[in-house]
Amino acid sequence: MTDVAIIGSGPAGLSAAVNARARGASAVVYGRDPATSALYRAPALLNHLGAGGRPGGELLREYIAEAEAAGVAFERGRVSQIITGGVSFGIIMGSEFFQAKTVVIASGGGAAKTVPGEERFVGKGVSYCATCDGALYRGRDVAIVAETDEAREDAELLARMCRRVYYVDKIGKGLPGERSNVEFVPGDVSGVSGGEYVEKVEVGSSQIAVDAVFFIRPVVPVSGFIFGLAVDPSGAIAVGRSMETSIPGVFACGDAAGKPYQLSKAIGEGLVAGQSAARYNSV
Ligand SMILES: Cc1cc2nc3c(=O)[nH]c(=O)nc-3n(C[C@H](O)[C@H](O)[C@H](O)COP(=O)(O)OP(=O)(O)OC[C@H]3O[C@@H](n4cnc5c(N)ncnc54)[C@H](O)[C@@H]3O)c2cc1C
Repeated sequence: MTDVAIIGSGPAGLSAAVNARARGASAVVYGRDPATSALYRAPALLNHLGAGGRPGGELLREYIAEAEAAGVAFERGRVSQIITGGVSFGIIMGSEFFQAKTVVIASGGGAAKTVPGEERFVGKGVSYCATCDGALYRGRDVAIVAETDEAREDAELLARMCRRVYYVDKIGKGLPGERSNVEFVPGDVSGVSGGEYVEKVEVGSSQIAVDAVFFIRPVVPVSGFIFGLAVDPSGAIAVGRSMETSIPGVFACGDAAGKPYQLSKAIGEGLVAGQSAARYNSV
């Protein structure tokens, strides 16, 4: 089992990983393509000491090489859920499951765009992971909103378990196989509604009765990734000075932990989070 699992391969996550390694902990970074980091898009870093106006992509490549040299391991992909409870954490990425003693969330500030009603029903019919939650809706009707390639596999999985799957194809790639219980729905889901649990999704002017809706997006809102994590009024993860969150053993840093969205803060907070996670493991 890994000592420190880091979600996000931007500067905050890489800094946390390198500093966890420096304290003797094993560290795995679970991250999407580095080109998805905000740093990759920064044309010239003028306010980060030592960067000398260099482009962010250049710095990021160096950070990754340094992390690899420090013995940090990488798993490429999108984490859809972190399972809390017990003495360790479960990390779900695609159809894979990993375990770690502590978690550092460094998933950046690229807040996922949610639709009205979505956040209210997280865990009550709104899901971001078919592998994790699909079986809860066996024999029932669900919708899946496909915004990444992974959604095609997820739709196949749901079609094997659910009675009917409404497939909102936002990537326009169709599905690998044909299934009689999958209905393609043009347009986009514009709202989620229900009582205690999801009952309907709105698509254009029509409403479709479903028991669940799976949003498969490139960015998962933090509220969907890990249950029970406190956020501040701006929606950022609430942290203390050791970068600890409301969940023991879970730390957060960088843009995910709030403003200012700046490289120096991301790297500094990553250092604190990495050290805190390594220390948490050793006590
Ligand atoms: C155009 C632009 C210019 C900028 N210029 C400057 C500047 O001049 N000076 C400065 O100090 N700052 C600048 N910044 C801000 C700086 O780049 C960010 O503050 C910094 O990159 C934040 O680092 P981070 O690691 O917290 O987040 P990010 O760099 O955004 O990295 C987060 C990573 O986590 C990944 N991720 C998210 N969710 C998941 C998931 N579920 N599973 C796996 N991976 C996930 C993301 O895809 C991303 O790769 C600029 C940003 C932009 C966009």
